[in-house]
Amino acid sequence: MAKLKIGGEAANNEMYEIGDPLETGQMVHYVLNKGVSTGQCRPAVIIKAWSVALGSVQLQVFTDGQNDMLENIVWRTSVLPGEVNGSWHPINKCPFGRRDTT
Ligand SMILES: [Zn+2]
Repeated sequence: MAKLKIGGEAANNEMYEIGDPLETGQMVHYVLNKGVSTGQCRPAVIIKAWSVALGSVQLQVFTDGQNDMLENIVWRTSVLPGEVNGSWHPINKCPFGRRDTT
């Protein structure tokens, strides 16, 4: 599969290729863009794949609740693949390893 070219700086092209699994119910990582844990990965479920070509998805993100100072589950829309805050990536391609553990 060819590497996907995604416009803008918000997405990392290495994180998603056309043909990668992108299905409702799939668990991925979401990089928090709000709260005290901004920049850390949290598990998220793909609710709807908007664009397989772009890797754009709707997510429900499972936070660490009060520790993240966020709602337990938050909705994020039109999320693009990448490693920057506010993006998603496959768990097995997580660029951060176990960074979010202490
Ligand atoms: Zn991750």
